[in-house]
Amino acid sequence: MVSKKITFLGTGAADATKYYHSCFYIQDESIGLLVDAGGGNGILSQLEKADIPLENIRHLFVTHKHIDHLFGVFWILRFLGAKIAKEKAEDLTIYAPQSVIKIIRDIAPIFLKDKVTKLFDGKISFHPIDKGNEITIGSWTIKPFDLRSEKEEQYGFRLRFNDGKNIVCLGDEPYKESLLESCKNTDYLIHNAFCLERDSERFKPHDMHHSSVKDACEAASVTNAKNLILIHTEDKATFGTRKTAYTEEAATYYKGTVIVPDDLEVVAL
Ligand SMILES: [Zn+2]
Repeated sequence: MVSKKITFLGTGAADATKYYHSCFYIQDESIGLLVDAGGGNGILSQLEKADIPLENIRHLFVTHKHIDHLFGVFWILRFLGAKIAKEKAEDLTIYAPQSVIKIIRDIAPIFLKDKVTKLFDGKISFHPIDKGNEITIGSWTIKPFDLRSEKEEQYGFRLRFNDGKNIVCLGDEPYKESLLESCKNTDYLIHNAFCLERDSERFKPHDMHHSSVKDACEAASVTNAKNLILIHTEDKATFGTRKTAYTEEAATYYKGTVIVPDDLEVVAL
């Protein structure tokens, strides 16, 4: 039996319509962490298809406030919140930058019932990550860090399991040299790869502060990552061929293992 795994609920960038937005669920036999929630109620169908019951979501990390990462949180709050209110689910902790917590607090009362918002700061709690303090969830430790984004405040993290294995997530930001300490020597680097380098002229990933496959591979090489997981991609040029095309381009720039998950694909850690 696989004890530690990541289920990729979505792998697309904001404008993707053939993939759900990038978000994933990391779990072992006792703990789970949902990272981002995509931009809509597709999060509910992706969880259902992945056989992850909503009430299993106890910990949710939100990297930044863009709609393709944040709006799915409201759908989770709507339905998981109702279950918590009825005592059909346990509590939920949301880990996010203060700016994101403020948006959730401001918007939730407009769209969600009192029975859900009444749970805020009780059974639904908010954990600001801006100070970068280490978070402990069961036997896991999670160290959030500022991605020094030029577009929007955004946080990544390094998650360490009790056997020492670890994952680094950079949200949808490109790796920067100033992040080396937080990223180096990881087992799994999860990096955005908006498009192939050869499609850069068409998609202009750098104008959006995103990366090509080549950029992600160079980040994985310079940080000495053992495995590189590529998500947050376009769906216009490589839909149907993404896995092969990305893996082929990656082989030129990176010697480690490259994983290009499809939506709902499970990666054993
Ligand atoms: Zn995004």
